[in-house]
Amino acid sequence: MRPLLRSTIRILASLTFVGLIILAYCKFVTVNPTTVALTLLLAILGIAARWGLAESIIASLVAMLGFNYFFLPPVGSFNIADSQNWVALIAFLITASTASQLSIRARRRTAEADARRREVERLYALGQTMLMSGSVRTTARDTVNSIMRTFEIPGAVLFSKMEDEFFRSDPQTLAISDEQLRWIAGSEEPLIDQQRQIAIVPIRLGGQALGSLGFIGGTLSTAALNAVTYLVAIGIERARSLEEGSKTEALRQSEALKAALLDALAHDLKTPLTSIKGAVSHLLAKPRDADEKELLTIANEEADRLNQLVVEVLEMARIEAARFHPDRSPHAVSEIISAAVQAQEESLKGRRVELHIDEPLPAADIDFEFIQQVLKQLLDNAVKYSPVGSPVTISASVAGERIVISITDRGKGIAEDEQARIFEKFYRGRASRGQVLGTGLGLSIAKGIIEAHGGRIWVTSQPGKGSIFSFALPISEEELVK
Ligand code: ADP
Repeated sequence: MRPLLRSTIRILASLTFVGLIILAYCKFVTVNPTTVALTLLLAILGIAARWGLAESIIASLVAMLGFNYFFLPPVGSFNIADSQNWVALIAFLITASTASQLSIRARRRTAEADARRREVERLYALGQTMLMSGSVRTTARDTVNSIMRTFEIPGAVLFSKMEDEFFRSDPQTLAISDEQLRWIAGSEEPLIDQQRQIAIVPIRLGGQALGSLGFIGGTLSTAALNAVTYLVAIGIERARSLEEGSKTEALRQSEALKAALLDALAHDLKTPLTSIKGAVSHLLAKPRDADEKELLTIANEEADRLNQLVVEVLEMARIEAARFHPDRSPHAVSEIISAAVQAQEESLKGRRVELHIDEPLPAADIDFEFIQQVLKQLLDNAVKYSPVGSPVTISASVAGERIVISITDRGKGIAEDEQARIFEKFYRGRASRGQVLGTGLGLSIAKGIIEAHGGRIWVTSQPGKGSIFSFALPISEEELVK
């Protein structure tokens, strides 16, 4: 429906609604003027929230006139000398404008969230197509069809430079010529023609030009265009690796494709959580009463928990997507340990930390930040699962060509049958479920990090006495040569 016709219908409907309320109170129900004013105010609120500013302002004016004419003395005249009528008018107008602004904002937010969700769903659908296809030609053909279907656009065309072939979803795409596609494939900038509703984007991967992708009709955001071309680039490379018989390379490309999808998802999960956390913290700064404070505190803690879960799940997925390549260099073990203890000072809650480091220790070949994260996880667990005030010991020594670091606590320990299982994803000890907050992911992330370093992590524990979590890391090659 055309916008003008639509707003005319809405204005007429609003006027009818206000008219019916006035008629009902005039003819059928007898109430005092305050009740009439409140009913009209509610009606205006509804109109403003449902339809918007123009409709609600016109309805407010008519409501005020009707209220004035039929209910305020002298009844039957538009005398506005009485200040009450001005108050009524201003109340109607303020309600109309505030409510419509609020609802416009809320609707815009919902629309934005919907659009983002749709975009991620579409990228997923496209990613799936790219993972299923076999040869470069079938991948290219499936890609243009999938882009057309999932993004609901009239046509898409792909130019593959290596095959020097054009894959068109249908003849409509001839609006983009072969020359244009060749030209953009060689350039770094996309061509976006708003007027003709055409977009041509170069497909590049690691600085190499693979071809170009043309879109007909529709209005895809720049972020969506970039994400699509990135997915297509990885998908085509994966298909090429498969064709060339390089299974490992194809596997690596599949993992990169999954990681790219994961990034899109990560953003979508984190953004609303950050807003929720911000809003709750703001309200929590000045709660109105004890009940509100309690509810907001629960919301705040749950938002933190959800955030922790999202961060850990994504981290786990990233490590699993084989995208994780530690940036290794030689580091002194004592330095890593003291940095981790310092960083954890607050969560150690005044616990005594005993250090037993067999100096001199050779340097370890590690990614400093990730190994710190492992130490942080193990220290956190030691504090979480042992009595308040009990000490924690960190020791480090050499065993063959490895350095072994251990963290010992005096907690309740871990039953033998659970000692291997606690490194599994989402596994939580029987004694911890429902007792201590957690996600069951911390140790599996630590295991992923240590294994990516070519190391090993394990636990020895005596129920009732405590646990020793240890991990072995490779000694730096430079030290081994010495
Ligand atoms: P979470 O602590 O979130 O449950 P983790 O992966 O860090 O997840 O740990 C998995 C399980 O291992 C825990 O639920 C707990 O039962 C057990 N666990 C971990 N560290 C210790 C420890 N230091 N002492 C006793 N049990 C532990």
